[in-house]
Amino acid sequence: MRILVTGGAGYIGSNLVDRLMADGHQVYVVDNLSTGKITNIQHHLGSERFHFVNDSILNTTTMERLIQQVDMVYHLAAVVGVKYVVEDPLRGITVNVRGTETVLELAFKYWRKVLIASSSEIYGKSTNVPLSEDDDRVLGSTSVGRWSYSDSKAIDEYFAFAYGKKGLPVVVVRYFNSYGPRLDPKGYGSVIARFLGQALRGEPLTVYDDGLQTRCFTYIDDTVRGTLLAATVPEAEGLVFNIGSSRETSILELAQMVLRITGARSEIRHIPYTEVYKAEFEETRRRVPDVRRAKEVLGFEAQTPLEEGLQRTLDWFVGQDEASPTSGLQRTKEGYRCKQS
Ligand code: UDP
Repeated sequence: MRILVTGGAGYIGSNLVDRLMADGHQVYVVDNLSTGKITNIQHHLGSERFHFVNDSILNTTTMERLIQQVDMVYHLAAVVGVKYVVEDPLRGITVNVRGTETVLELAFKYWRKVLIASSSEIYGKSTNVPLSEDDDRVLGSTSVGRWSYSDSKAIDEYFAFAYGKKGLPVVVVRYFNSYGPRLDPKGYGSVIARFLGQALRGEPLTVYDDGLQTRCFTYIDDTVRGTLLAATVPEAEGLVFNIGSSRETSILELAQMVLRITGARSEIRHIPYTEVYKAEFEETRRRVPDVRRAKEVLGFEAQTPLEEGLQRTLDWFVGQDEASPTSGLQRTKEGYRCKQS
């Protein structure tokens, strides 16, 4: 197939691209490299089956040319992560809403199947765990910037369902805290990337608040497999799926695991939210997906244990200069050791 991946140079996008290339597809990527990186896709640049366009999804001319050429679209390009959105809400809202509107409008014009990447942030601060796809969303006031990300993704989903109602084949996936190789080694946007980087540099691990807030960390291979199943299982059309692990881990536990696997002797430092986010901030205390629909319709279950996924992510991080510029890590029989620890 000819497949367009928007945001294909990003963390999830580029891992998805690897799979699509390995499966023999013609792959088109559009990415403006704002957070995506050319190094994530450069190993495909020589292939005749790979086409990269460095542009924004807001450029409708580029998008029309691309969507015309392909059989289906994985729409992953977005301003992702609470921190980015809190820092620049206008950009987050514009890219996430207008970009998705453009993709769906053109997919409708040329009648192309679309998978829309959404987020577990959709559920907001709902405490009704495990969170089912049809559950209520619980959000705070519009004066709390964080929720604009949730709302922008919700509008994306509404757009998808609206086109779905007109017969367009669409499917939505909600990712739960995906992690793995190609996370930003500087630690932006993911607590796992931050903790690994901090441990490798021998810095304190910054646990926000009491650290008892929980997440279900999902290894990238599982995220990609769930995405491909959602896009290809015919019964999935018109539906939304949680794509995540059901193992709940507190941030404090995660910090301890990171210390164990890196061998770092960094301290765990608790930091109040007010110190991190200058503006008003609200937190999701527990985030656990209901995985039944994904299992029943897609036959999907996350399989990679957190310890194993963390180790693989660490192995990748160690090779990245940005993650550990000065650590001079040593590999020992027991694992990695920071020289300075
Ligand atoms: N977190 C933390 N220390 C950090 C970064 C994040 O304790 O340096 C916490 C954050 O408060 C949240 C969890 O880790 O409870 C997951 O944060 P992340 O940004 O990875 O994703 P989120 O689930 O908030 O979208």
